Amino acid sequence: MASPLTILGAGGWFPAHGRQTACALLRQGDHAMMIDAGTGVGRLAERPELLHGVHRLDLVLTHFHLDHVCGLAYLPSLDECPETTIWGPGAALYGTRTRDVLDRLSHEPFHPVPLEAQRIEVRDLPVGELELSGIRIATRAQTRHSAPTLGLRFGDDLAWITDTAHDPESAAFARGCATLAHEAWFPSSHPRNPDIHTAAADAAVVAADAGAGQLLLIHLPPFKAGTEPLLEEARARMPATEAAIDGWEIDIDLRTPPALG
Ligand SMILES: [Zn+2]
Repeated sequence: MASPLTILGAGGWFPAHGRQTACALLRQGDHAMMIDAGTGVGRLAERPELLHGVHRLDLVLTHFHLDHVCGLAYLPSLDECPETTIWGPGAALYGTRTRDVLDRLSHEPFHPVPLEAQRIEVRDLPVGELELSGIRIATRAQTRHSAPTLGLRFGDDLAWITDTAHDPESAAFARGCATLAHEAWFPSSHPRNPDIHTAAADAAVVAADAGAGQLLLIHLPPFKAGTEPLLEEARARMPATEAAIDGWEIDIDLRTPPALG
């Protein structure tokens, strides 16, 4: 069943040039999966229809850097989904339960509306596999950022790899995915934090090595409006490459997993 993936924040670090930070929404019937909760969460105030009819919202965090979680503070502004769960890698990557990590952020002196007051459940993501509302999710610990992060894979349709320096082993994780969304933080000619972020050309290497159908560049740098230098070098290796734009909807073919037994 084709489900729309809506890019709510295509940028990294801070919002600029029309790009909010790290957030995407995958909608399937009355279920929605949010990938990261950067400032892009605020786009839902601009497009509330994206959550209309959603009964269950699963919000999956790759890590806790502020450009990926500050939108959690905007959740009280949204129409409440009857069942909302935040999933994070606290226990798996940091030895601290995600609930305990987010407790600090969602209470004073940082924020006046605690998550529990919003009836939002907080749970931990394992490194490995889980299934949420019929969607198979695989996670992989990524160790090439300033703090550990999770790579995500949704069935064979979408792999989401952000906040990592180039990691050749990402290709095996994303093998055969229809769409690979991979961060692209700088063009190779102008390296910027290459020890914790990936050049567009290397995102394309991962996509090509993975045999991905297409590459979507995400976590785009806020320093300049244009993404042409990133696209140009990525397309040299992976012609089917686009740079994410806030508001884009991409059809993702989330297959229902076969019934067990
Ligand atoms: Zn980030």
